[in-house]
Amino acid sequence: MRKRFIIAIDGPSGAGKSTTARLLAKRMGYIYVDTGAMYRAIAWKAKEKGIDVKDESSLERLGKETEIEIRLISGEERIFIDNMDASNYIRTPEIGMLSSKVSAATCVRKRLLELQRQFGKEGGAVLEGRDIGTVVFPDADIKFFLDADVKERGRRRYSELKAKGLDIKIEDTTEDIRKRDHNDTKRDIAPLCIAEDAIVIDSTGLDAEGVVKKMLNEISKKQVKAKTPHLNPLPIGERK
Ligand code: C5P
Repeated sequence: MRKRFIIAIDGPSGAGKSTTARLLAKRMGYIYVDTGAMYRAIAWKAKEKGIDVKDESSLERLGKETEIEIRLISGEERIFIDNMDASNYIRTPEIGMLSSKVSAATCVRKRLLELQRQFGKEGGAVLEGRDIGTVVFPDADIKFFLDADVKERGRRRYSELKAKGLDIKIEDTTEDIRKRDHNDTKRDIAPLCIAEDAIVIDSTGLDAEGVVKKMLNEISKKQVKAKTPHLNPLPIGERK
């Protein structure tokens, strides 16, 4: 087990992954990797270039020629696409839906998988997405699957987008989430599912602090286990 863990957080849209992953990374002094932002980056650039998201060969070319970076600016992770800060353009409902379509393309997943593994390979990272514990880091030191009731997820996403000044309806936001759940769980490659060894947390009715508290508790149990093997002593008669 690594000294500085790789922590995987997967789950559906609106379950609170970004907020809790960011908070958890800060508490642990780890880096935070938002893998959804990378799919959004490809989707945004495809839209800018007028590329059809079903056109795999154009997507493959786009993936290869696009430089994606995460830079920490004033303590906040910003996503840079070809050296331009695109953080404010990728968080719209339109790009969310497009990214869900783009993410079903094998070439895009292959390209982003390499990048995501680079970010986490040294440990000391909290990675958040749909397939971190199942595909990107199946050997992650600890895996969480964060879920919440779909109506609550719709409400959360609605408040988030409303606060950004978007003119939206709560019914549309919830419907978008249902569609993305469908796309993400039914695709052939790396579908959203619960890793066998993941700890499932239902965040319905919990705030980010409440979720992070539960996560920290599980992490410290793992850390104790890793450092003190004598916690599982042999029965007295079998000791030398
Ligand atoms: O998490 P976020 O809503 O930003 O993700 C946008 C989309 O990117 C998701 O709906 C999903 O289709 C895709 N995604 C993925 N695998 C990941 C992260 C995100 O397929 N690891």
